[in-house]
Amino acid sequence: MADRVLKALIGKGQARVFLADTTVLCEKARELHGTSPVCTAALGRILTGAVLMGLQLKGDEERISLDFQGNGPAGRAMAVCDRHGRVKGYVTDPAVDLPPRGTKLDVGGAIGKDGFLTVIRGEGTGEPYVGRCALVSGEIAEDLATYYLLSEQTPSLMSLGVMVEKDRSVAAAGGILIQPLPGCSEEILSQLELRAPVMGDTSALIRDYPSLESLLIDLFRGLDPEVIGEEKPEWHCECSRERIASVLVSLGRDELEDLIRRDGGAQVHCHFCNTTYDFNAEELKTLAGAAGGEKGREDSLA
Ligand SMILES: [Zn+2]
Repeated sequence: MADRVLKALIGKGQARVFLADTTVLCEKARELHGTSPVCTAALGRILTGAVLMGLQLKGDEERISLDFQGNGPAGRAMAVCDRHGRVKGYVTDPAVDLPPRGTKLDVGGAIGKDGFLTVIRGEGTGEPYVGRCALVSGEIAEDLATYYLLSEQTPSLMSLGVMVEKDRSVAAAGGILIQPLPGCSEEILSQLELRAPVMGDTSALIRDYPSLESLLIDLFRGLDPEVIGEEKPEWHCECSRERIASVLVSLGRDELEDLIRRDGGAQVHCHFCNTTYDFNAEELKTLAGAAGGEKGREDSLA
């Protein structure tokens, strides 16, 4: 089944809800990065959180990036998403594994709870919006909810989960984000709090329910859940050989000639999709020909 996010209102517009099934994209991330079970869960939660937050962006060129820098052994973990739910991400040390804590994978232990979450929102040009808060638990959902509250003054209930099979593949992954809207009644708020524990086991809900619609109806029974839209999130890294080549060209002729002399070629690695692009000396020479350079310009002026 393809990944989906269902957008809904409850209590006749008193709160909004996002339900996400991100199983396919989390499995894709696991395959690309070869993550251990605990890193699969950590990265999957971050990717899913980025999708839930990315879908709230307004501008077509806007991106949100979530950058977790805790003191855990997995190192830095980050994800970037656009408003259509196209997401990519990585963990610095994807092979790090930890014993489970109770029945759960120890994501908080892998990320670490001492450190910071930095959220950057921008269009690539102009001043981006940067928000930063101390990590609460490194468990991701709690950290993102705290960020929402402190940096954006938006109370929210967020739950993220990734269930990993014995063969290390992703059995189910997803998330739930609930945000009360202005004028939300105390009654709805207390109803949501009452139901929060059920939502805690998100990946089991995603696995067990036949559709997000049926999950929505069950979770918010009696609160008038109403679907207002849906999105199809997906793993997406925009890097390509052509893009990397144009970055190399932008280095200028001198730098490229240096690379040829020093290294006999160039190797460029994309952290997000774990792809390495090799350019040999011949290819770099062609790119150098396309590149301008201080030296080149002087020569042609003389
Ligand atoms: Zn890439």
